Amino acid sequence: MEKELIKSLSDDLVCIDCRLKNNQIILKIESTKQQVLCPYCGTPSFRVHSVYQREIQDIPMQDRQTILLLNTRKIYCDNPDCGHKTFPERFDFVASKGKKTNRLVDKILMTSTKLSSVSASSLLRASSIKAGKSSICDLLKKNANNCG
Ligand SMILES: [Zn+2]
Repeated sequence: MEKELIKSLSDDLVCIDCRLKNNQIILKIESTKQQVLCPYCGTPSFRVHSVYQREIQDIPMQDRQTILLLNTRKIYCDNPDCGHKTFPERFDFVASKGKKTNRLVDKILMTSTKLSSVSASSLLRASSIKAGKSSICDLLKKNANNCG
C-alpha cells in the first residue's frame, strides 16, 4: 500500500520506514537518484554535503493523516564557475519549501474554492487532512483566488 503511494509521487523514491503513530501514518522516504543536476548551472552532482529531514503532509491513506519524512540531501556543485557551492535536492511533487505535496494542495484548493476557509478547514479535517484557516488562505492567495 505505502509502496504504491510513494511510487505515485516519484519512481525514484523508496520507503525506508513506515509506522502508525497517533492515528497518523508516517512514511520515511528518500531518493535513490545517484546524480542530481545543480538547479543553478545544470552540472550533474553527486557529492553529498549533508542530509536533513523535511516533514511534508500528503493525501490521506486509509482515512489517516499521512506524513512524509523526506530525507533531503544537500549536494555540492563541483562546477567552479557556478555561484552556488551547495544546493538542496529538489522534488517535483512538492514546492522547494513546501509543507504539503502538490497533490494535497490541489485537493485543498478544490475543497476550498467554494467554501469559506473555516468550513473548508473543518471539512478537510473530517477527511484526515490538516489545513488551518490561515494556510488555506495562503494557498488560495498564491493561486489567485479570494479568501473567504
Ligand atoms: Zn551549479
